[in-house]
Amino acid sequence: MLADFKLCLPLTSLLFSTKTRMESRPQSPNRSVWNSASRSPPRNVEIKETGDHMPITLQEWQGWGTVSPVPAKVLEVVDDLKVLERHINAQMSFGGNGGKLQGHFKVQEDKKHRATYQAISDSEQKIQFFSARQIACRLLGSRGYLCQKCWLPMEEDCMCAKIKRCSMWHGIRFWLYMHPKDFLRQNNTGKLLWQVFGVHSATLCLFGVAEDEDIMWSAFKVAGKNNVWCLYPNNSTMQKSLQDALKEGFTADLEHDPTAMSDGKFVNFVLIDGTWSNSSAMFRRLKEKAKHVWGEEDMFCISLATGGSAMHKLRPQPSWDRTCTAAAAIGLLSELQCLPRFDSFQLGEQAEALENALVALLEALTARRLRMGRSITRKVRHNRDIC
Ligand SMILES: [Zn+2]
Repeated sequence: MLADFKLCLPLTSLLFSTKTRMESRPQSPNRSVWNSASRSPPRNVEIKETGDHMPITLQEWQGWGTVSPVPAKVLEVVDDLKVLERHINAQMSFGGNGGKLQGHFKVQEDKKHRATYQAISDSEQKIQFFSARQIACRLLGSRGYLCQKCWLPMEEDCMCAKIKRCSMWHGIRFWLYMHPKDFLRQNNTGKLLWQVFGVHSATLCLFGVAEDEDIMWSAFKVAGKNNVWCLYPNNSTMQKSLQDALKEGFTADLEHDPTAMSDGKFVNFVLIDGTWSNSSAMFRRLKEKAKHVWGEEDMFCISLATGGSAMHKLRPQPSWDRTCTAAAAIGLLSELQCLPRFDSFQLGEQAEALENALVALLEALTARRLRMGRSITRKVRHNRDIC
């Protein structure tokens, strides 16, 4: 099966050739190109100049790739931040990675948000507050600095010109279930999915944002449990190979009945877009919601034959399945394409389009690192560390 798969995936050769210099494991995660954003020099963006008086509009919110209304709790946090500015007579400023407050304001805001968090007794409300605060800070800190589409610094590193859009086969819908700490992260790869396929084929759902999660679960209810699959290795009986999953699930019979889509019967694939440590909480939340909606706690999970092979070298630090989110989607599309039921939907081309975008992101992050005077040759010395 694996041999068959490799034949169907000539794309990896492109990835290998392009990324040779990137493949070694860095001495510390922060030295990886994937983490270069977090090592950016401090940058002060005075919110006064970039829109203190400008509320977060629907246009701005959805410009970042979301499909929901502006989350009410995010707006509340933004208002609270502005109140705090007036109260302590200090302007917010952000540095480095965009979403990190700095200086005197940070000290005061730290105290305030910790107290607020402690005072919330309901665990659901705690999660929602945590997410809203993370997202609000990232939104304000990235305003006027990051390109809304590619989440890279717009004047220096925007890679949008290199993205080629591609239509996804209409029977599939990806959901990027993203941790708030990955939102607007420059090295996030989940964003590539909606850049390439559009937000209706690959939809962002932020963990802990009620507006996003409601949209996702409404779609899941329509699709039915058998048409919702999570790419997560949870070691349970609910985990199946893609081929087994196809035998038992996917009741929509999409390939023979295109009208099924008009009933919302997509095959929904959930990609958990967070670090290893965050992903278990994210999966737990999905399971709890599944129990609420379907009366059964387990979610169907898919394991990929390629899970730990070619792609994991893209992202040296540990992540949930040793691969990055975009690579997981590429692996999924490539495996699907090898199955007779799906071989006429050009899924291979779609995988290739995503792979090209991933390469472009890698090159943009590498160029950024080089421009900042950080060596990349050092990585070659550690090539043998790759497993
Ligand atoms: Zn851009």
